[in-house]
Amino acid sequence: MALRLYNTMSSRVEDFRPIRDGEVRMYACGPTVYDYGHIGNFRTFIAVDLLRRFFRQSGYKVHHVMNITDVDDKIIRNAARDGVSVQQYTRKYEQAFLQDAAMIGIEEPTLVRATEHIPEMANFVATLVHKGFAYRTDDGSYYFRIAKFPQYGKLSKRDFGGMQDGARVDVDEYDKDSARDFALWKAPKPGEASWESSIGPGRPGWHLECSVMSMHELGETFDLHAGGEDLVFPHHENEIAQSESYTGKSFAHFWFHARFLLVEGEKMSKSLGNFFTLRDLVLKGHKPSSIRYLLTSVPYRNQLNFTFDGLKQAAVSVERLRNFRLRLTSGNFPPGATPEMQTLAIETAARMTAALEDDLNTAQAQAAIFEMVRQANAASDAGGIKQDDVPPLLTALTRFDDIFAVLDDDDGAKMKRVFDWAPTDGRGNDVSEGLRETVQSGQLSDADIEKKIADMKAARSARDFKTSDAIRADLADKGILVEITKDGIRWRRK
Ligand code: AMP
Ligand code: ZN
Repeated sequence: MALRLYNTMSSRVEDFRPIRDGEVRMYACGPTVYDYGHIGNFRTFIAVDLLRRFFRQSGYKVHHVMNITDVDDKIIRNAARDGVSVQQYTRKYEQAFLQDAAMIGIEEPTLVRATEHIPEMANFVATLVHKGFAYRTDDGSYYFRIAKFPQYGKLSKRDFGGMQDGARVDVDEYDKDSARDFALWKAPKPGEASWESSIGPGRPGWHLECSVMSMHELGETFDLHAGGEDLVFPHHENEIAQSESYTGKSFAHFWFHARFLLVEGEKMSKSLGNFFTLRDLVLKGHKPSSIRYLLTSVPYRNQLNFTFDGLKQAAVSVERLRNFRLRLTSGNFPPGATPEMQTLAIETAARMTAALEDDLNTAQAQAAIFEMVRQANAASDAGGIKQDDVPPLLTALTRFDDIFAVLDDDDGAKMKRVFDWAPTDGRGNDVSEGLRETVQSGQLSDADIEKKIADMKAARSARDFKTSDAIRADLADKGILVEITKDGIRWRRK
């Protein structure tokens, strides 16, 4: 089989075929850097990261471009409010985003910034005017004439036929009822940032930024364009209208949209108090790996409801996988091989691939690896794992982790890197005080640790593995890695 993906454009799951053999060119709409990233944003970014990793595992060379929206209505407004330049305002949030993304295991795509492509954007508008797809208004703004693009609505499946020609909307974000000529370029307003350009002073609209930068990096037609489901309309619809009018060619072949994350069953919103940035969760003591695991536990097109219970379960799942790997790498196994384990490892790898090829069914891929761990643990308890079984089992784990990226026990180090850089929570408050306890590893003295290890040993000899596991998890949270071997219990600082 080969990869099959849902395409929002056709509303069907389709075989993925790249335009160029062996190569995938993909563009994902990045963050608008006016605030810290929340876990909903990260659901989408992690879904795209998974897709990128799976393309690579499937043998493709991947060009993955993401923009940083560093100029839009909200940014201009906030920068003017704070009396700072757009660059000064956005730099901190861009850095915070990149730090957070690294903390949660997102591989860095090629990054493009809107403010670094303004002359090209102005030239793009000039061409659209020349071709009759755009017009200038008296104040020096430019709008896209959607009546000239009859396919307008083809992505969001809306019929805009009855629309009044010439009705305009000049805000970057608007709802489905506002199918009007949208702003490509906005004339300067007093007190707000603007740029000189070949079409006069002003600033680009958000939609224009992505059209120009994606085609600049990936060519006029590329394989896949991604974002959260809210971007289907108007953002992606407008990108298609601009790009296809400009080139006369198809823009992107696949449109990949991640479903919105819910929190405790509701839409995440500041007023409901269920709005979490990544930093909020980490400062509550949750590990990046648990958050990443939870956010991938439901396929990207299904509803994922974030709960704290789910987060705790995710932590247990990750811990189980890590312990299993530790068991394989530190155990003493007799020479030889068992056919059952060999088959299990190979079949598990195949099942994971089949699940991911089925429109990235992450839940089934996780189920496959857990079934392997369950069977192998049971076999190991009964002495049924031999030396030559270890490499194929480890290979299956590695294949899993190339995609899910949760097995390395480096949460403490990752968190430390982020908060050493800026000890702030998701609202910009200084949290240096509380942080030391939550994030910094190595807070326990050796004597403290030895005492806990003794408690663990006592619990294990009473066959109270629940208590023993709880102590171990608690030590792991504090940056202490505990290894249980045939010769006893060892520990080390991460
Ligand atoms: P923004 O920074 O608002 O431009 O959003 C960055 C990305 O996060 C976009 O692809 C959005 O579609 C996505 N996004 C925003 N909120 C959520 C959410 N609650 N769940 C999933 N994705 C989201
Ligand atoms: Zn975009």
